[in-house]
Amino acid sequence: MNEKEIAQLVKSVLAEMDITPAAKEPQRKQLGVFDTMEEAIEACNKAYTLFRNYNKEQREKIIAEIRRLTHEEAETMAKLAVEDTKMGNVYHKILKHHLVADKTPGTEDLETRALSGDRGLTLIEMAPYGIIGAITPSTNPSCTVICNSIGMLAAGNAVLFNPHPHAKRISAYAVDLVNRAVLAAGGPENIVATVKNPTMESSNTMVNHPSVRMLVATGGPGVVKMLLSSGKKAIGAGAGNPPVVVDETADVPKAAKDIIDGCTFDNNLPCIAEKECFVVRSVADEMIHYMLQNGAYLINKEQIAQLEKVVLVDVPPKKPGDPVKKTINKDWVGRDAKKILAQIGVQATDDIRCIICETEFSHPFVQTELMMPILPIVRCETFEDAMEMAVKAEHGNRHTAHLHSKNVDHMTAYAKAVCTTIFVKNAPSYAGIGFNSEGHTTFTIAGPTGEGITSARSFTRQRRCVLVDSLSII
Ligand code: NAD
Repeated sequence: MNEKEIAQLVKSVLAEMDITPAAKEPQRKQLGVFDTMEEAIEACNKAYTLFRNYNKEQREKIIAEIRRLTHEEAETMAKLAVEDTKMGNVYHKILKHHLVADKTPGTEDLETRALSGDRGLTLIEMAPYGIIGAITPSTNPSCTVICNSIGMLAAGNAVLFNPHPHAKRISAYAVDLVNRAVLAAGGPENIVATVKNPTMESSNTMVNHPSVRMLVATGGPGVVKMLLSSGKKAIGAGAGNPPVVVDETADVPKAAKDIIDGCTFDNNLPCIAEKECFVVRSVADEMIHYMLQNGAYLINKEQIAQLEKVVLVDVPPKKPGDPVKKTINKDWVGRDAKKILAQIGVQATDDIRCIICETEFSHPFVQTELMMPILPIVRCETFEDAMEMAVKAEHGNRHTAHLHSKNVDHMTAYAKAVCTTIFVKNAPSYAGIGFNSEGHTTFTIAGPTGEGITSARSFTRQRRCVLVDSLSII
């Protein structure tokens, strides 16, 4: 072996070794991780009685430590998330952890309003709810736990997590990390808590417990519906199916690259990622040409039919005679394009990261939130046709939509018609959560309940404090 080869070997061995503090102590009981939800609730309650007296400066110290540990352990968490869920891309998950550490707002997000006048002084303050019950997804497991923890603790709350069962190891790791940060910064034990084996039963216990004053769901339609019918204050961050439109005025080479970059980020797991593309016919060939130069692989009609059999499964009809609907085969969610292509007999080269195909508007690849690096492309006669189809394909989720255009009238018309929480123009989808763009980040985008790009203030309740006929100094 020459020197270069030895250096490369050492580098890859070190990369495989987990040298984070948590990994050095494999036998240590993870902090905040309990056998039952009842135990977690009891411990969290105890912690909250102490934490409710922490001022913003103390909370900010804790948040700074969460940010520091998230940066330090980003790589470990990215690897564990992929190992645990079998979904996503390690490199992109590392970037997501750095993003969450850098751009999730802390206590600076909380604002007090003051009304002063002849009759004295009134303050309106952003106060904590108490204990929040949060349900988190398998697609962004640790990022959501960390993002929610920063925002919810900044606002002065305690948090119980019931994570997705398919992401329980990485979610427990993130809860432990937050607790390590809290303890290091002088905070109470178990201010963030979870269960080792989350189930629907543990979720129900959390949702229905009287100590839990607010609920936050990040996931698909089932969980959002369940929380919104709980009778408690709830924030719902639900599913999307973001369409991207490309019109004749777009910078087509850039649009093609941006779309492939966004669509393939973390293998299309983010709910904001481009899921289907509507392109004006006059620029369609050029766009596909540039997509092929940016890691896309174009499949033909027969291959589309083969791929359908791999990534879609039938939903049994509710009653006899109902049409058979298609849904995703979860085994292929968040998988590499190369591995998916291998299933239909295509041995792709290493640079292939996205499967593109031309389909009709009604095709299930367009209508279904696949969360795989597969991008169906629909040719449209005009921008207006593209916009109309995009609005329909978004299914009224009011989540995210994208546009590549230089026409301001098109931007305005589409934004008004699609009415989404996030609307990104001339950039990859991840610009919508503050990645290489202005604005803070979140991993809980609350379209259904309207909080939007959630942050600490979303997890507060307003309280008014009135003093009459004094403390006004004029
Ligand atoms: P999922 O809906 O399968 O699971 C989310 C969580 O809800 C899990 O913890 C799961 O155990 C639980 N859950 C599911 N159905 C439930 C029910 N009926 N009652 C109680 N709990 C239930 O979601 P997933 O597959 O992990 O994530 C992907 C989905 O989440 C996609 O639809 C994606 O668009 C959406 N998502 C949305 C956001 C957002 O911010 N809006 C963020 C990430 C993911």
